[in-house]
Amino acid sequence: MAKRGWDEFEIGAMLRSFDGVSNDIATTQQEDRNYSQSNSFVASVADWRIAKPVFNKDFCIDCQFCWIYCPDMSIIARDKKMIGVDMDHCKGCGICVEVCPTNPKSLLMFPEQADEEAVLTQWPAKDKETK
Ligand code: SF4
Ligand code: SF4
Repeated sequence: MAKRGWDEFEIGAMLRSFDGVSNDIATTQQEDRNYSQSNSFVASVADWRIAKPVFNKDFCIDCQFCWIYCPDMSIIARDKKMIGVDMDHCKGCGICVEVCPTNPKSLLMFPEQADEEAVLTQWPAKDKETK
């Protein structure tokens, strides 16, 4: 399929996420899905990223909100356990951080060049509840 610029599409045009029949996608692992060329899993936008989410498993409650809301399917989870972030596809939008409900958050945004081991040692403390 020839690639087209975003401004060449007709209003209302639809890009399909998967090629062929796509039954049971929710229970199919990412690596086994038949993604189309227009899906962001194939056409990665990770080079847009100027800030990255860092995952701190010490506070995670495996609620899966980040997995549900990530627009680029970049949250890696297995058996309903959060494992980490797929940095080959994450575009750094920060939605996963916004929806993370823990206190402190289990995902926080840091500059792209930040050292992950170092930022994990500087994680914020729990916010005291205020009425
Ligand atoms: S910042 Fe979070 S929500 Fe946004 S693409 Fe990356 S993992 Fe997904
Ligand atoms: S939203 Fe936060 S607490 Fe929930 S699974 Fe993701 S990182 Fe863990």
